[in-house]
Amino acid sequence: MEIPKIKLIAQPETAEARKIIGYKWNEVAGTRHFLGGKPEGLSESEYPVCENCKKTMTFYAQVDSIGDKFDLADCMVIYNFVCFDCYNVKAALSQTSA
Ligand SMILES: [Zn+2]
Repeated sequence: MEIPKIKLIAQPETAEARKIIGYKWNEVAGTRHFLGGKPEGLSESEYPVCENCKKTMTFYAQVDSIGDKFDLADCMVIYNFVCFDCYNVKAALSQTSA
């Protein structure tokens, strides 16, 4: 199952939050947030299998590093998967190809 891709735009609510978004030397990292679609840098054959159902999980969201101050291991992203049979979830940190 694939959820249609929905791009997410970070909307900081305070001046403090605005300051920590993004990178000084990378304009793409910090903006790669979205629901559905396909994770950047991972093929469907590599999707995790639900530990309960043993079915391939659905890609739910990609959450990017926030910026220089709250960086995930050199601009990594978090892939989030869900099982729509039992609602088990799984997250993994990864480097993207983008
Ligand atoms: Zn399951």
